[in-house]
Parts: sequence; structure tokens; C-alpha cells
Amino acid sequence: MGEKKRNVFVISGPSGCGKNTVYDELKKRYPDIAQTVSATTREKRAGETDGVDYYFISKEEFLKRVDNGEFAEYVCYGGNYYGTLNSEIKRLSDEGKTVVLIIEVNGAENVKKMLPDAVSVFILPPSFEELKRRIIGRGTNSAEDIEKRLEIAQSEMRCKDKYDYCVVNDDLEACVNSISEIIKGAVQK
Ligand code: ADP
Ligand code: 5GP
Repeated sequence: MGEKKRNVFVISGPSGCGKNTVYDELKKRYPDIAQTVSATTREKRAGETDGVDYYFISKEEFLKRVDNGEFAEYVCYGGNYYGTLNSEIKRLSDEGKTVVLIIEVNGAENVKKMLPDAVSVFILPPSFEELKRRIIGRGTNSAEDIEKRLEIAQSEMRCKDKYDYCVVNDDLEACVNSISEIIKGAVQK
């Protein structure tokens, strides 16, 4: 018997470091990976679709689901709630998918406690200046929101050593190659 296959991946990194861009590239290579759709109380951004990007729900609904024990983990980030529903992990696992959670650091720590076999990857920006350029360049956040996210980024960076792997997203292709190797290594055991 070989080592156990590990099919849950947690990806974190400061807002704007490129998590979603990297995921989109990974998905092209591994159609079998699937990202859990989180629930959030934050406002929907232009171009986002309910049930695809997030389940956009009210704070009341969110807290009711917390009380019902429906979340594998949840956090308050930048004044809004975000959480991974147990039903999402189950749904994708049942479909035989390699499950990817793209979540912030506190949630990632909680997932590791609940699912110790989960593989965690922290994506680092090449520099803080580049992170700022990317988050501003993305054009989806208000000036106030950007300030808040950059502040959170400073403390998030201090959590990087808790992850199984750290990968710098300088050259996108190189970053995607590194994470591909991590996924291949884990799912083929
Ligand atoms: P996150 O999901 O971590 O918040 P995004 O994937 O939205 O970050 O990326 C933030 C911005 O940075 C986007 O405009 C994206 O196109 C850009 N970006 C991502 N990766 C790179 C890279 N390796 N080099 C340059 N720009 C990048
Ligand atoms: P955004 O508002 O940019 O979509 O997300 C803000 C942050 O919340 C990002 O770091 C994102 O990865 C994280 N996030 C999204 N969904 C979840 C979730 O379900 N749980 C946790 N802990 N963080 C999440």
C-alpha cells in the first residue's frame, strides 16, 4: 500500500497576490480540480455571479448557518463574513474531484485542524510594492478597501511558515508549475 492520497488543498496568500489567477491556470491543466464556493456577506462585485463566485447571503442567514453547524470554517475578514460550507467539500469529494479551498489564513488554520490530511500552500507576492500594484491594478476594490487589505496582508505574511509549502508568484508560469508539482505529488501517492 502506498501513502494515502491527499485530495484537499488549501491555498492562501494576501489579497492581490494572484491566488485566483493561479487557480484558473491550474484548472486548465487539471480539469479534475474544483474550488469550493464559499458563502459570504460581502457585496457582489461587478462580474461576479451568485452560486459561482460565492453564495452571497445576508449576515442573518450566515449566522443562522453558523448556529446550524453548516460551516467547516468561517471568519470575519475586512468587516464581512466568509465561510466554507461542509456541504461544498462533501459535494466535490463525492464527485471525485481534487478539492481546492482558496481562503484566508485563519480559515486555513482551522481547516488543517479539522482535516489534517489537507495540503496547504501559501502564495507570496514578489514584494509588498508589487502586491500593492496588483491590487490597485485589478481595479475591483475601493481605496478604503485596498488600505484595509494591505494592512491585513502584513499580518497574513507572518503566517506563511505554518503552511506545508510557500510559493512566490513572480513569474505566473513558474508559480503554476511549482503548485502543479505539489498537487501531482499529493494525489498520486
Ligand atoms: P487574489 O486572488 O490573490 O486576490 P488575483 O488573482 O485577483 O489575486 O490577482 C490580482 C492581480 O494581479 C490581477 O490583476 C492579476 O491579473 C495580477 N497577477 C496575478 N498573478 C500575476 C503575476 N504572476 N504577474 C503579474 N500580475 C499578476
Ligand atoms: P474577496 O473579498 O477578495 O473575494 O476575499 C477576501 C479574502 O477572503 C481572500 O483572502 C479570500 O481567499 C478569503 N476567503 C474567501 N472565501 C473564504 C472562506 O470561505 N473562508 C475563509 N476563511 N476565507 C475566505
